[in-house]
Amino acid sequence: MKAFWTEPDFDDHELVELVHDRKSGLTAIFAIHSSHLGPGAGGTRFWHYPDPAMAMRDALRLSRGMSYKNAMAGLPMGGGKAVILAGPDRAKSPDMLAVFGDAVDALGGRYITAEDVGMSEADMVAIAQRTAYVTGLPSKHSGAAGGDPGPFTAMGVYLGIKAAVSCKLGRESLDGVHVAIQGTGSVGGGTARLLARDGARLTLADIDRARADALAKELGAASAPADAIMDVACDVFSPNALGAILDDEGIARLAAPIVAGGANNQLAREEHGPALAARGILYAPDYVINGGGIIAVTLEYLARQTGDHCGIEQVHAKLAEIPERLTAIWQEAESSGRSPDQVADAMAQRLIGR
Ligand code: NAD
Repeated sequence: MKAFWTEPDFDDHELVELVHDRKSGLTAIFAIHSSHLGPGAGGTRFWHYPDPAMAMRDALRLSRGMSYKNAMAGLPMGGGKAVILAGPDRAKSPDMLAVFGDAVDALGGRYITAEDVGMSEADMVAIAQRTAYVTGLPSKHSGAAGGDPGPFTAMGVYLGIKAAVSCKLGRESLDGVHVAIQGTGSVGGGTARLLARDGARLTLADIDRARADALAKELGAASAPADAIMDVACDVFSPNALGAILDDEGIARLAAPIVAGGANNQLAREEHGPALAARGILYAPDYVINGGGIIAVTLEYLARQTGDHCGIEQVHAKLAEIPERLTAIWQEAESSGRSPDQVADAMAQRLIGR
């Protein structure tokens, strides 16, 4: 592996640490990008990387992304991320999680972990046996924030879509607005349910066709093959599955005036933000519209630190800032001639003092 500080994704990260424990089989990378606004907060990804250099790139890139996401969500948190390098069998053991929890604890609160791809709420509970620097734990009280961030991310995406429809189409109601949703998992499925409640017309797609079909049946929506969803003529294309879908080919295929969805890292490269704007497509920067989950788990964490109760209503009040922030980004993009992703990046960099 190359020295990490020579990687193109290295961006003056404050801490990059490799933890290896032969007995439990744990190999993990911790990356803290910025602690300007608070401790580095961001989930733990459990993934099998064919090449360990890819794990390092993910840790560097995702921790910087968390600095931007937390700053734009108005949270007193910096950006951090942990990556556990799973074996080809993707085996995860209690010992591995215990050693991982000890490693989080050893960072003394500089890094706060949560759930990400490959980790579950139960894993977070196991890690919490070893460290207090963890969040996304199931709530013991009804009506309290906590646990799976997916539904909160979906709520933020739904509010962001409403704001985009108002900004681009001048419509204050979603009744009859056609939204094509790519990915009907936790975020995409949750968003679809909220949109359906408002009378939106939905076309759903998932590589697991049965999953999309079942939700379509439940909501009275249409479904489409996964490889055709980007071609659907609609008002909003909402990506909620993969990253890097907005590349030259993907952008050329789009038949929607708005792209607003929860997937991380939607733009394949920097130039694809301006490419969307050049086609007259309004883009909701991913790390702004999908901040609902980190808002929920951070409020839960902060309340636990002070012994306070964090209710769902507090989370919802903070989620309401997502459409406001998006609207401010689109207004600045309009007046400055820059694309929304460029405006968002500049705002985030200002907030983290870079
Ligand atoms: P999930 O695993 O619950 O759902 C993802 C769905 O996408 C699955 O049903 C999968 O079959 C489907 N899918 C995968 N590839 C596809 C393709 N090519 N075409 C259509 N469907 C495809 O995951 P999730 O938690 O809903 O996360 C979705 C996205 O949102 C990811 O990019 C994730 O990083 C991002 N995100 C999630 C959260 C959260 O709180 N869960 C927060 C921020 C961002």
